[in-house]
Amino acid sequence: MAGEANPKREGFFSKTDLPTVDKKWKGRNKFLRALNYVEKELHRHLWRGIQCCTHCKHTQTIAEYALDGWEWSGLYNHYIDQHDVRPSPAFIVFIEKEYATRHG
Ligand SMILES: [Zn+2]
Repeated sequence: MAGEANPKREGFFSKTDLPTVDKKWKGRNKFLRALNYVEKELHRHLWRGIQCCTHCKHTQTIAEYALDGWEWSGLYNHYIDQHDVRPSPAFIVFIEKEYATRHG
């Protein structure tokens, strides 16, 4: 995919692998602004088919983002925005650093 041997993967959820929900996470808006910005600049790998949110009826084209040893699902943004999901601390640091670098 991105040429990385062991990419760190986030946001690929299923009925048996559910996300961490944290309604009280204060960094959500700031993080989503950074994530939206970074995603807009990235090439999205689109796959055939549709994936469905495990929490609601939201569906979208199967998509993945890959950058600097990380891979994350195109649905991750939706989980964070709509279902109070909190990403791992390492992913938060990665995205906010990337946003700062790109956005200035
Ligand atoms: Zn949903």
